[in-house]
Amino acid sequence: MTPAGEETDTRKIELIMALRRQGITDARVLSAIERVPRAQFVEPSFKAQAYEDHALPIECGQTISQPYVVAYMTEALDVGPRMKVLEVGTGSGYQAAVLAHLCRRVYTIERYRTLLRDAEERFRELNLTNITAKSGDGSKGWPEQAPFDRIIVTAAAETLPDALIDQLKIDGWMIIPIGRSTRDQKLYRVQKTEKGVDCEELLPVRFVPLVEGVPKDI
Ligand code: SAH
Repeated sequence: MTPAGEETDTRKIELIMALRRQGITDARVLSAIERVPRAQFVEPSFKAQAYEDHALPIECGQTISQPYVVAYMTEALDVGPRMKVLEVGTGSGYQAAVLAHLCRRVYTIERYRTLLRDAEERFRELNLTNITAKSGDGSKGWPEQAPFDRIIVTAAAETLPDALIDQLKIDGWMIIPIGRSTRDQKLYRVQKTEKGVDCEELLPVRFVPLVEGVPKDI
């Protein structure tokens, strides 16, 4: 292995150890994170920080989430190998790539076509053939592919989007940040039941907002 490759491996192992110390214990989740080269999902100028535990800027004024938050949300989603998962907010594609190692198929939606194109290229390079991505307004879900076993929303909604609840299977779970301002967001786990939904508050978070509609040119 090249010295640069060895250095990346050391940084990755340090990140996994930091995630463990912060309470991420699911071995499948940790191994999925270990398998995804985060350096490939960040801008070239941020590559040196790719395995540090913080969010980083990506194109279109968006962010790739902090690895701890990705690990926490993935663990909370409790994904099984036969499951069909919807992600709203592809961004860099990192969260989708982590999920792709844990479930049967990932459907992911991004409103910026530029981000989507870059993410799709990364999926191809990494041979992640069980991810299907499209551009559009993810707050409306992906009705043609519904119902989903799990839904993960990686942008903050003001309220629980009805369309996403409709597209969840009974007993299915959704992890979603909700809050009207960045200072006031909480992550929720929502379970769909025969009677309605059960919501459990998990932790305070900071996500870019879930924006309805799609931009015209980018
Ligand atoms: N999961 C991403 C982090 C994404 S940041 C990753 O792993 O890198 C949130 C993303 O949600 C942004 O790219 C933003 O453009 C997108 N987004 C916001 N509102 C959206 C909507 N209504 N539909 C689809 N994507 C949306």
